[in-house]
Amino acid sequence: MPNRVNLRDNITIFLNRIGQKTIVILLFIFSIYGFFVFGVESENIKLIIKILIVLLFLFFIYFRYRNMTLFQGITEQKELKSEKQEEKDIEVIKKLAEQFQIRKKNNSEADFESYLNMILDIINSTFVASTAVIYLIDQEKNTLVPKVIVAKTEKKCQAKEIDTDEKIMREIFEKKEIIINDELSEEEIRDIFASIGHAFKSFLGAPIFIEKEVIGVIAVYSNTKGAFGEEDKSLIKSFAEVVSRTVVNYNSIFEFETSSLLFSSFYEISKGLNSNLKFDEIIDMLINMVKKIFEFNQISLSIVEESGFYAIIKRVIGKVDEFKEGYKFPLEEGLNGWVIRKNRAILVSSLEKGDYFIPRYSKTEKSNFGLKSFLSAPIGYYNKCIGAITIESKKANLYSELHENVLVMLANNIGAALERSIIHKRLESEAKTDELTGLNNYREFRLRLYDEVNRTKRQKQKFCLFMMDIDKFKDFNDRYGHLVGDQILKAIGNSINISLRNIDFVARYGGEEFAAIVITSDINDAKVSAERIRSTIDKTKYKFNSSEYHITISIGVAEYPTTSQSEEGLINKADQALYQAKAAGRNKIVIYEG
Ligand code: GH3
Ligand code: MG
Ligand code: MG
Repeated sequence: MPNRVNLRDNITIFLNRIGQKTIVILLFIFSIYGFFVFGVESENIKLIIKILIVLLFLFFIYFRYRNMTLFQGITEQKELKSEKQEEKDIEVIKKLAEQFQIRKKNNSEADFESYLNMILDIINSTFVASTAVIYLIDQEKNTLVPKVIVAKTEKKCQAKEIDTDEKIMREIFEKKEIIINDELSEEEIRDIFASIGHAFKSFLGAPIFIEKEVIGVIAVYSNTKGAFGEEDKSLIKSFAEVVSRTVVNYNSIFEFETSSLLFSSFYEISKGLNSNLKFDEIIDMLINMVKKIFEFNQISLSIVEESGFYAIIKRVIGKVDEFKEGYKFPLEEGLNGWVIRKNRAILVSSLEKGDYFIPRYSKTEKSNFGLKSFLSAPIGYYNKCIGAITIESKKANLYSELHENVLVMLANNIGAALERSIIHKRLESEAKTDELTGLNNYREFRLRLYDEVNRTKRQKQKFCLFMMDIDKFKDFNDRYGHLVGDQILKAIGNSINISLRNIDFVARYGGEEFAAIVITSDINDAKVSAERIRSTIDKTKYKFNSSEYHITISIGVAEYPTTSQSEEGLINKADQALYQAKAAGRNKIVIYEG
C-alpha cells in the first residue's frame, strides 16, 4: 500500500536523521532544565518550567519531522522507495507463488524442460537478447549442462557443456553475482557454442541459487555491444529466482506460470517507462495484465478529472454494473472515490451485509449488481494519485492481502509510466510549438522544409514556400503597445492557419514573420492560397479589449524546385519576393520569378 510504504520510509528517514543529533539536543534541553530549575524555590514555577521544556522538545521534534518531509525528505524518500520497492516486489512475487493454489500434475523430465523453455522464451523476449541458455550444474563433473536454449536467429545454435571455471562463468561462481561482459572474444564464443557463425558481443549471466549454493546459470547473449545495463540485473535476478523455484519444485505449474507472467508484466511496464507509450496505451497495458493475473467479473479503471473533485471511468472490462465508460462520479461518495482521495488501496471481502451494501461510486446507487469482492488500488506516482483500478467479483472473500499487494504493485509501476508519458507529451509539444501563437516554431519549420525538399525530390513534385511579414508592425506597436501587438500577432497566426489546408504547414518564422510550406503542383493554386491569407487578414477586424484593429500582411512566394534546389536558396528567393511586395506598397503578394 503506497501510504504504508511512505510512512515506513518517512520513519526510517526520521530516525536516521534524528539519531545524529538527538544526543546533542537532549543534552541542550537538560542543561536548560538544570539551569532554570536548580535554585528555584516555588514548586509551581518548577512545574511550569518543566512543561515548557517538554513543549519545547515536542516542538523541536515536530518541526524537524515536518521539515524533512517537506524538503530533504522528498529526494531521499524516492531513493529509499525504489530500493525498497524492488525488494518488496520480489517478496510479493515469492509469496504469490507460495499462496496461490498449486495445480498438481504428474510431471516428467520433459514437462520440466518445457517449463524451463517457457521461462527462457520470456527471458529472450524480455532482454535485448539474441540467444538465452539455462545451464544447470552437473555436480559430479562440475560442468554446466545446457538444459534449454532459445534463439531469436534462424541459425541453429548449439550450446556446449562448459566447465564452471571457464573464463566467462568463473566470475559468476567465484563472486556469486550477476555479471555483464561487453567484450566477448570469438574464441570464448567458440568455447561456448558448438555451431559457428555467432557474432555475440555482450553477455549477461546470472547465478541460479538453491539456498546459498549456485546450481546453474542463466546466460543471455546479444549481438549488440553494450546491450545490457545495470537495470537488467535486477530483472534477471528475478528470473533466476523463478528458475530456482521451478528446479526445487517443478510440480508447481501454477507457481511458475503466475510468477513468469508477473515478471513479463513488470518488464512490459518497465518498457513502457522507457519507450514513449501514449497514456491510453499504458492504461490498456495495465488492464491487460490485470486481466491475465486475477479472477474477476469486472475490472474498471478511473482517472481523476482536472478539477480534482470527480473521476471518470475510462475502461470497463466484463460488464456487470450499469456504469459505462465516461461515467463521472464524485470522489466524496463511493469506494472508488475513496481510493483516489486517500491514495490508498482498499480490500472489501463482501460489499453486501444483509440488505445493506456499500456504494461503489455514489451514494445514490440502488444496487451493487451482486458484486461482492471488491479490490481497488490507486494509480499514482509518489504522493500524487491520478486514478484507480478496481477488480470485482460476485464471489465473496475472493481476494486476499496478497492480491492487494500485487495490484498495488502493478498500479504503482503504471503510475510512474503514466507520469512519464504526460511529461513527455508536454515536453514534446513545448519543443515543437511557438508559445505565443501555438504554431510550429522555427526549428520545426527547418525540419519540415528539409523533409519536404527530400520528399519532393524523390517524387518529382513541387511545393511553394511562403514568407510573410506583417506590414508596419513597428508603428503598430508604437501606437498601441506591445501587449496589443502580441494579441494581434497571435490572431494573425490563426488567420494564416485557417486560410491554408490541413496538409500545408505553418510556422512562426520569428518576430512578426511567418512561413508556410504549401503543397501544390501548380503555382496558380499557390497564388489562390496566398490571396486567401492576404484578403482574410485585410478583411478581418481584429478585436482586443473592445477596440478593433486593421492590419495587413505582405507575402513572398517561391516555388521548389523551379526557383532553387536548396533549402537556403528557396528561403532566400521567397524573402526577395517578400521584399518586392513591401516595395510595391505592402498588402501584396509577389511570386518570385528568376
Ligand atoms: P514592414 O515589415 O512593413 O517593412 O514594417 P515593420 O514595422 O513591420 O518592420 P519590421 O518587419 O522590420 O519590424 C518588425 C517589428 O515587429 C519590430 C517589432 O516592434 C515588432 N515585433 C516583432 N516581434 C514581435 C513580437 O513578438 N511582439 C510584438 N508585439 N511585436 C513584435
Ligand atoms: Mg519583419
Ligand atoms: Mg513587418
